[in-house]
Amino acid sequence: MAVETRVLDDDCVPISGWARTSPTLARVRRPRGSAEVAAALRTGDPRGALARGLGRAYGDAAQNAGGTVLDMTGLARILAFDAAAGLVVCEAGISLHRLMTALLPRGFFLPVTPATRYVTAGGAVAADVHGANHPGAGSFARHVVALDLLTPDGEVRTALPGTPLFDATTGGLGLTGIVLTVTLRLLRVETSLLSVDTERVRHLDELMARLAVAPPGREGAPPAYEIARIDPLARGAATGRAVLIRARHAPYAALPRRHPARRAPLAFRPVTLPAPSPYVPGGLLGRTALGLAGALRYGAAPRRSTGRLRPLSAVLHPLDALPHGNRLYGPGGFVPYRCAVPYGQEETLCRIVRRIAARRFPALPAVLTRFGDAGPGWLSYPLPGWSLGIDLPAGLPGLPAFLDALDEEVLGAGGRVQLAADSRVRPGAVAAMYPRLADFRALRAALDPGAVLRSDLSRRLAF
Ligand SMILES: Cc1cc2nc3c(=O)[nH]c(=O)nc-3n(C[C@H](O)[C@H](O)[C@H](O)COP(=O)(O)OP(=O)(O)OC[C@H]3O[C@@H](n4cnc5c(N)ncnc54)[C@H](O)[C@@H]3O)c2cc1C
Repeated sequence: MAVETRVLDDDCVPISGWARTSPTLARVRRPRGSAEVAAALRTGDPRGALARGLGRAYGDAAQNAGGTVLDMTGLARILAFDAAAGLVVCEAGISLHRLMTALLPRGFFLPVTPATRYVTAGGAVAADVHGANHPGAGSFARHVVALDLLTPDGEVRTALPGTPLFDATTGGLGLTGIVLTVTLRLLRVETSLLSVDTERVRHLDELMARLAVAPPGREGAPPAYEIARIDPLARGAATGRAVLIRARHAPYAALPRRHPARRAPLAFRPVTLPAPSPYVPGGLLGRTALGLAGALRYGAAPRRSTGRLRPLSAVLHPLDALPHGNRLYGPGGFVPYRCAVPYGQEETLCRIVRRIAARRFPALPAVLTRFGDAGPGWLSYPLPGWSLGIDLPAGLPGLPAFLDALDEEVLGAGGRVQLAADSRVRPGAVAAMYPRLADFRALRAALDPGAVLRSDLSRRLAF
């Protein structure tokens, strides 16, 4: 890759998605304000331009080989906060971590957070991210009141919910414009703790039975989070054994009399471990260790516990405790597989879990969550159904063919793979998975006839 850097352009640097499987070279600019963003777009790079946040998209959505990439993290201010209305206006390059740090002490949390806080507001909009509370809360776009968007013609437009521009932009992976600011409705909380119920579930049938109750997030109640972490090494009768976690924001009144959080109920102090050496060995030892982590996690979880008070970061963002957690898989990176299948297609879901288990892949636990109603985003991932995710070390023999076969299962069930996690799905499959793709392409053709905005993903999937 270093050799290629010199040949292409001294100005280019390698960038990759979080999974680190397909790095490419780009001219990275770090604008300090919207005028500099607009100026960077006007330079007319023949390979186009693309906004990038914190690079947590796993695949090639935030890359633009040979072109310009605008690192938006220089636009990271909170512009306004209205406690009475529960609204914040922020620049798009601010991280959700910084928003939480600023807002939690004031009694507000983000209504939707993905499994990492280290994404930007712009990246959260562009991938229309979801959290483990999707059935009650929907995805990120549901809480966005307005967006300021720099479109390829150099105009700044305010995109409002209910308009085609908004619906194409939320989930549109940066291909409709550059999000400059986001106005977001917040969730009021009384503490920075969650009340957590945990149980070990012995096998897949039991897991599905436990999940077959009404989705969390009752009318009027704060949204509940629900995550099943499936041990990928378990086989035979234990296939699909999992730790099932359900959590709710803890009200102040729920804190026991002598609980230390009574003094500072809204303190936000996420734990971060020291950064690991550049690479955990990617060979057999590292892989075995990866697999064993799943089994240990299952064994270490309480058989059943209820109402345990835990910091919300520990429950919602466990991987953030480990900086550079993407190095766990060694220098070759990993292949994330994220798929959603509709309710009613549980047989397919279970078959996919069994197929993964049968391969005994060395992997951290797979994550199963439920989705509620789909949002309006044309390319948003969530659909009413199940979402399954697993990260697999790249380079495993037969992995590409195996994942293609899973895609077929997903397609046959009317499901889809998550574009923000992808770097491998066939272009033909995407049109079937995302029925509004034709509308998205048409809007892009009208908005950006010169194809100013481009990414490796947009080229690969012919968006
Ligand atoms: C550990 C981990 C856990 C995750 N968990 C979840 C999860 O639970 N749910 C979920 O939905 N996702 C999850 N993700 C994926 C992640 O939330 C998304 O990929 C998100 O888009 C990353 O944001 P970012 O700021 O890092 O953006 P990047 O990765 O840099 O970019 C992602 C996309 O957003 C576009 N973009 C970024 N900024 C802007 C902007 N200002 N204007 C226009 N477009 C922009 C980019 O062009 C690109 O297409 C997870 C990722 C990781 C690494």
